[in-house]
Amino acid sequence: MREFRYERADDVDGAVALLAGHPSGAFLAGGTNLVDLMKLGVATPDLLVDVRELTSAEVTDLPDGGLRIGAGVPNADLAADPRVRQRFPVLSQALLAGASGQLRNRATSGGNLLQRTRCGYFTDITVPCNKREPGSGCGALEGVHRNSAILGQTLDGPGTCVATHPSDMAVALAVLDAVVRVTGPDGERQVPVTDLHRLPGDDPSRDTTLRHGELIIAVDVPALGFPSRYRKVRDRASFAFALVSVAAAVRVDDRVVTDVRLALGGVAHRPWRARAAEDALRGQPPTEAAFAAAADAELAAATPLRDNGFKVPLARNLVVRTLLDLVEGSR
Ligand SMILES: Cc1cc2nc3c(=O)[nH]c(=O)nc-3n(C[C@H](O)[C@H](O)[C@H](O)COP(=O)(O)OP(=O)(O)OC[C@H]3O[C@@H](n4cnc5c(N)ncnc54)[C@H](O)[C@@H]3O)c2cc1C
Ligand code: SF4
Repeated sequence: MREFRYERADDVDGAVALLAGHPSGAFLAGGTNLVDLMKLGVATPDLLVDVRELTSAEVTDLPDGGLRIGAGVPNADLAADPRVRQRFPVLSQALLAGASGQLRNRATSGGNLLQRTRCGYFTDITVPCNKREPGSGCGALEGVHRNSAILGQTLDGPGTCVATHPSDMAVALAVLDAVVRVTGPDGERQVPVTDLHRLPGDDPSRDTTLRHGELIIAVDVPALGFPSRYRKVRDRASFAFALVSVAAAVRVDDRVVTDVRLALGGVAHRPWRARAAEDALRGQPPTEAAFAAAADAELAAATPLRDNGFKVPLARNLVVRTLLDLVEGSR
């Protein structure tokens, strides 16, 4: 039995101050990930600061047509919000592709972004894992890694890690150029969501660029003037994390792709914004051949492992199908 303290603060500043003095403490939101990890002995905080009721549970309009999503907005409410469904279908679809109805009722926007990898070696404290116990090794590299990363991994040295980031919502937010608003011991700052999560580098224990004690307050999603879509492939129809997912938004004027945003999930330690594919596609006709060439440009950097090479053609086909659906739907 491990003891920990549970605290509530009167306001956001109080919560930040409480955690600042506890390097081994953690914020608690819906608890759907953190409490599971505590039960497994993977997370061992000595203090939980409950922020679920402290951060806003509202979605509000921004002047440019965008939305501000409070960190406390339940995933279910966000997916069902008519403004999200109409203006940002990629976000609603991504949320509905994740977890289950009951979990989405409890899980929050802030917690969803900061959920941890589902690599089976990370969640089993009897086996080596550099993310959970730095320097212990990476069980997945030569072990069971069918669902591991194909891009941006660290394949040798003490930083070895081939885990994937699990959040569907984060992939959609990457395509939407969302900005995460945080407050911490050093004040407030804004972090583009594409800079929030990191690759393993030489320290896979750090999933994000947040500093200890920084609290996510809200996520701002700027207006998007063209169609968007999320598509996820998984081993079963629900209650499963992505093998590969694609978030896409594309604008076509006079049979030319004039703007495109693409991100991949299930392929890397962070949501993978596919900039090489975007660059390859801008100015091209919206054809299957052009979409395939763009996907190939992105996936040329892939370094699949022994058992997950299937993710490369899967990602390619998913990009092509999702873009075709978008342009066919917007004709
Ligand atoms: C069986 C199962 C299946 C699932 N399937 C999917 C899936 O397919 N796709 C998917 O995307 N997700 C899936 N999920 C994950 C689920 O979406 C997350 O567990 C959930 O979104 C986490 O939100 P939470 O509010 O419960 O976070 P918590 O568990 O409370 O917290 C998670 C982390 O975020 C930190 N945190 C929470 N709020 C803040 C904040 N405001 N500021 C700073 N730090 C904060 C906590 O300290 C903790 O480290 C699944 C979960 C389960 C249990
Ligand atoms: S892939 Fe990363 S999370 Fe999984 S065992 Fe290796 S170090 Fe741990």
